[in-house]
Amino acid sequence: MNKFKLGAKRPLIISGPCSAETREQTLDTCVKLAETGVVDVLRAGVWKPRTSPGTFEGVGLKGLAWMAEAKRLTGLPVGVEVATAKHVESALEFEIDLVWIGARTTVSPFAVQDVADALKGSGVPVMIKNPMNPDIDLWAGAVKRFAAVGIPMDDIGLIHRGFSYFGQQRYRNAPMWPLAFEMRSRFPETMMICDPSHMAGTTEYLHELSQSAADLRYDGLIVESHVCPAEALSDAGQQLVPAELERLVRGVNWRREAADDPGFVKALDRFRDQIDQIDAELFSLLGRRMSISEEIGRVKKANDVAILQSSRWGAIKERILSQADTLGLGREFLNDILEAIHLESINRQNSVMNF
Ligand code: PEP
Ligand code: MN
Repeated sequence: MNKFKLGAKRPLIISGPCSAETREQTLDTCVKLAETGVVDVLRAGVWKPRTSPGTFEGVGLKGLAWMAEAKRLTGLPVGVEVATAKHVESALEFEIDLVWIGARTTVSPFAVQDVADALKGSGVPVMIKNPMNPDIDLWAGAVKRFAAVGIPMDDIGLIHRGFSYFGQQRYRNAPMWPLAFEMRSRFPETMMICDPSHMAGTTEYLHELSQSAADLRYDGLIVESHVCPAEALSDAGQQLVPAELERLVRGVNWRREAADDPGFVKALDRFRDQIDQIDAELFSLLGRRMSISEEIGRVKKANDVAILQSSRWGAIKERILSQADTLGLGREFLNDILEAIHLESINRQNSVMNF
């Protein structure tokens, strides 16, 4: 088999069970996935860093042997998660084609450094999941650690799996898409795939997240699949049987990045001109609003009045939020904008009054 190269195929589809549990479950899942024809790389966790102790922590080395067997049976490259230098050494011994760093490992610079040192010179590509917490510098720092030991940038990829937060929302891990865009702009040549399984936490949202990833020009997906999800020892709620995985992948529309049809180009240009014009007006108005805030700061200073007047702010907010439907804007969106404007306005008044 040719050496696996990141970036050789777009979209890259990685699939396999969350965990390798038994030889039968691993091989059965992998063979069925290979038969779908939509999977490029098989995955499985053999060491599982679990949030709570006492849950299934993986089968270890045995699992590597099963993945090596899956590779022989299917002809597909295989990948596992690594979190220590020892894991890397074992994965290399079993000729694993791809390794990834899990979200619980990316948060730890010592662990990342250890893995990077062990992987150095192996030629095996590594994909780095975003850390559990929404910290782009930590994610970028992990990339830099691999690059710094001499691993070529072409052999480094990113996996966006969403961020952990307190409280219940639609997804198990919040995508926070703008953070991933920021990562993309820091590493524009690095491929980034989406992990809708760990974002969703349930199979119900896999399609919408996968389609969003395609629409946002991700380079592929990593999705968990298990021959019998109900019996899975980890992440039971989010795994698909191979046939469902095939339907999911075939159902995603990876739209073209651009089209050169003259009608399309003209229509797009016209709308873009309008947007540029509106942005110019919007931000010039915001600039004016902020300079008025400074004037208010001066008046308050002259009269020794406090900056924050909650009733006034409450009234502004209520008035604008009550227009949400008429404006055709979501209340949550309006609220975010108002909070940002208010914060900057207070900062401006503060700079006038106190410095
Ligand atoms: C996994 O891929 O099974 C896994 C543990 O993912 P994450 O590190 O994103 O939680
Ligand atoms: Mn999992």
